[in-house]
Amino acid sequence: MRSIHFLVREGTRWTNWAGTAKTTPRRVLSPTGPDDIAKLVSEAAGRGGRLKAAGSGHSFTGIAVADDILLRLDGYRPEPVVDRETSRVTVPAGITLRELNPLLAHHGLALPNLGDIDAQTLAGATSTGTHGTGAKLNGIAAAIVGARLVDGTGTVRDFGPEDPELAAVALGLGALGVVTDLTIQCVPAFRLLAEEHPMPLDAAIAEFDTLAATNDHLDLYWFPRADRVLVKRNNRAGAGRPLSGIKRWWEDEVMSNAVYGTACHIGKTFPATVPAITSMSARLMSSRTFMDESYRVFCTPRRVRFVEMEYALPRAAFAPAFAALRGAANKRRIIFPVEIRVTAPDDLWLSTAHGRDSVYFAVHQFRGMPYRDYFAEVEAVMREHDGRPHWGKLHTRTAADLAGVYPRFADFQRLRDRLDPQRVFANSYLDRVLG
Ligand SMILES: Cc1cc2nc3c(=O)[nH]c(=O)nc-3n(C[C@H](O)[C@H](O)[C@H](O)COP(=O)(O)OP(=O)(O)OC[C@H]3O[C@@H](n4cnc5c(N)ncnc54)[C@H](O)[C@@H]3O)c2cc1C
Repeated sequence: MRSIHFLVREGTRWTNWAGTAKTTPRRVLSPTGPDDIAKLVSEAAGRGGRLKAAGSGHSFTGIAVADDILLRLDGYRPEPVVDRETSRVTVPAGITLRELNPLLAHHGLALPNLGDIDAQTLAGATSTGTHGTGAKLNGIAAAIVGARLVDGTGTVRDFGPEDPELAAVALGLGALGVVTDLTIQCVPAFRLLAEEHPMPLDAAIAEFDTLAATNDHLDLYWFPRADRVLVKRNNRAGAGRPLSGIKRWWEDEVMSNAVYGTACHIGKTFPATVPAITSMSARLMSSRTFMDESYRVFCTPRRVRFVEMEYALPRAAFAPAFAALRGAANKRRIIFPVEIRVTAPDDLWLSTAHGRDSVYFAVHQFRGMPYRDYFAEVEAVMREHDGRPHWGKLHTRTAADLAGVYPRFADFQRLRDRLDPQRVFANSYLDRVLG
């Protein structure tokens, strides 16, 4: 087989978005398709080397770190295949959500749910269990109904909806192979009415279950020490208007990024100002209502860099876990808000929502400010409540204790042994979380 991949870089430094993971891959390659990737995998396996596909580098953990060969899939761009009857769309796995969303909209389709940003690649997002919010909805990987994967023996494999192993491959942590193509079950394109209003914190806590049950997508933002919380409710249909271009620019770019970024820099330089900045940020949280295409409501630009840890807990643990988290946040100088979301259970083997209604707590801190003791205290709370850490966000858990919170953990390990017997796709993060 002829090798037709392109050498992109040699000896160049790779850093993730948050600056929490860095490496200098021996080689960065841009393969042209599954056969080319299969050859590269076989070569790597033959010499005991390692290889890893990276997405957009938006994971906070070292999950995408490739010390040996790093693959960039942006050179593999077959035409999307749209099945109008089933609303299933097959796309190259390296497509970014930013490219995918308008493409689907062009065909009158959409992903059922999305997270906060669209910078990720589809494979990167699904491999780590990226999710949005919605008590009756799942994370992005749950929409995967087909995958083509080059495994660690250099074999190209197809998984369809009837294959039980798709439930592992769709959210595989990059540990089972290089995913080259993904088929997604889309829904008809829909518009969302976005209603964002501050609410007294105690009321939001008391009404949390009702808020989650009565809104398609519920998202809470709470600044440490504040006694109010921004409640974002996004619901399908209804009438309304999109934000004007100027208003969107002012609110999403100027206020949420430029002004807030400056405030964070001030807080980092003068830590004593942090309580005043968070209190002002909480007071500035204002109401807005607008309507737009779903993906334009879900995803907003995030230019202020931060570090993040996020845990999924059983929904019933919401109130006690939040009370303890609140205590941990209130006694520190934390400039970033806590984000709270919900999802329905799914059956993906390593999904943070596997088999249970989930509430997600995401804690953040501005990049360069102290966060470790805060995250450690919050992590202890999450652990107490049977928490599962987001695979792409900071945490300190290991295979030994993660096995206990994932009923299908051993099945995943067995599949990994079969698909990647020589651990071609391993790195030190996977060594820690999978053993
Ligand atoms: C500002 C910001 C906002 C975020 N918002 C959310 C959110 O709302 N909800 C949420 O759940 N998460 C969120 N995240 C986390 C983010 O969605 C995940 O970390 C996601 O994995 C990043 O995708 P990526 O394309 O950057 O992948 P990377 O971080 O580059 O890679 C992630 C994993 O995917 C693997 N991978 C990538 N491509 C392939 C492939 N083709 N085949 C096999 N494996 C592959 C990599 O090897 C690695 O294991 C956010 C992160 C940031 C920085």
